[in-house]
Amino acid sequence: METALRKSYDIVIVGAGPGGIFAVLEFLNSTEDLKILIVDKGKDISERQCPMKNSEASCTACPSCSLLSGWGGAGAFSDGKLSLSPDVGGHLTKYIDREEVKRLIDYVDGIYIKYGAPEHIYGEDIEEIEKLKRITSKNDLLLVHSRIRHIGTDRCRDVLQNIREFINNKVDLLFGTKVMRLDIEKGKLRGVVLTGGRRVKAKYVIVAPGREGSSWFEREAKRLKLTLLNNPVDIGLRVEVPASVLEPLTSVTYEPKLIYYSKRFDDKVRTFCVNPHGEVVKEYLKGIWTVNGHSYANKKTENTNFALLVSTYFTEPFHEPISYGRYIARLANFLAKGVLVQRLGDLRRGRRSTEERIKKGIVEPTLKDATPGDLSFALPYRYLTDILEMLEALDKVCPGVNSRHTLLYGIEVKFYSMQPKLTNELETEIENLFAVGDGAGVSRGLIQASASGVIAARAILRRL
Ligand SMILES: Cc1cc2nc3c(=O)[nH]c(=O)nc-3n(C[C@H](O)[C@H](O)[C@H](O)COP(=O)(O)OP(=O)(O)OC[C@H]3O[C@@H](n4cnc5c(N)ncnc54)[C@H](O)[C@@H]3O)c2cc1C
Repeated sequence: METALRKSYDIVIVGAGPGGIFAVLEFLNSTEDLKILIVDKGKDISERQCPMKNSEASCTACPSCSLLSGWGGAGAFSDGKLSLSPDVGGHLTKYIDREEVKRLIDYVDGIYIKYGAPEHIYGEDIEEIEKLKRITSKNDLLLVHSRIRHIGTDRCRDVLQNIREFINNKVDLLFGTKVMRLDIEKGKLRGVVLTGGRRVKAKYVIVAPGREGSSWFEREAKRLKLTLLNNPVDIGLRVEVPASVLEPLTSVTYEPKLIYYSKRFDDKVRTFCVNPHGEVVKEYLKGIWTVNGHSYANKKTENTNFALLVSTYFTEPFHEPISYGRYIARLANFLAKGVLVQRLGDLRRGRRSTEERIKKGIVEPTLKDATPGDLSFALPYRYLTDILEMLEALDKVCPGVNSRHTLLYGIEVKFYSMQPKLTNELETEIENLFAVGDGAGVSRGLIQASASGVIAARAILRRL
């Protein structure tokens, strides 16, 4: 439905993911008198449906991907694991005091509960956590403890729907429309330019484009000559094992965050997005397939999956981490016409996996249309070495992780790398233009993306 747009707004928000949504909630918490417009290139929550969901069709490369775009952003079909620690899921402590980040996390968490997140929290048994820490540290692994609230992919939609109903009619919502440009004249913010060249004026703009919109935002930031800070690129694989193998960790802390520094390269390797009894899924990012994972609150598989990501800073003068990550993922796509899967045993023996070899394995892939192949053709030596080392270390904590039957899917890449220079209110170098969430390199998860929206909204409220 076409929203009748005003000519000018107090605030325009680009992106209806958690960053954008929590900014709006914060404004509405304070006053309903502001003229606010949220623009998202995706669809409203009730219309978000991936064409692949109910058919065997392969990706039709929709102009905006329903899995990542629209009301709820990438959060709508996410696993909904809320990491309740300032050390996990973002860099907010870079901008504001750690204690303040903790308070914000509690505040945002409370809002998730208000709209339907479950009360239960994982990872509160400190004695067991300490025991685990002793075992991991003996094996070169650092366990970062975070309490987790697990909403689950199925319930995420309900929570977002509830928020959507609350916001209904209080602000203008424009779906299926892309913000093409940030409208800046002689260094002053004027508003935004939408698809078709339509101009909308705004006193304040909050850009919350997520990973999906990070390339667009990077182009805009370069056009506007904003200072961009160098960031690492996170590239790796998704690992799938029988759920029982990872249970020593997942039974104590739902989402074990482990960090390992490789002996060969001294690179940081970390576990990311652990999905007990979950599914490996494909993610389509503008022309390339990458891997991800999720788990349902009410539907369990026999397997647990998690990513092993390697963070590296590149040598000067290289400044294109996003292009580099896309290139590596594309290599795997070339070989597999999509996502590659390989048994760890085959990788170690230097041979490809085949349908037959995968069938012989004791781990049944939850991602059915991954192509068996050879990841060593796609992933550079440095990444492979780092990941194989970490699997060995992890095997000492959870015997069986380093088994020849373990499945590896590639490539998993995280494109949240572009980071414009921001103040502690998350304002860019252009006055009244704020940038929040994953697309601004501020966060890497739901809670910190949401909290960053609150920070920007509060800064604007103070000025209003
Ligand atoms: C499969 C999957 C599982 C995940 N699981 C978890 C998890 O368990 N726990 C966790 O903490 N995090 C998880 N995440 C990450 C989490 O979803 C993100 O951190 C979070 O959604 C980021 O919020 P955001 O608001 O910054 O951006 P997003 O949620 O990505 O939203 C950005 C929105 O901006 C819109 N947009 C972009 N550019 C434009 C433009 N130019 N014009 C108009 N609209 C635009 C997009 O369409 C999108 O809707 C998962 C992500 C995925 C993909």
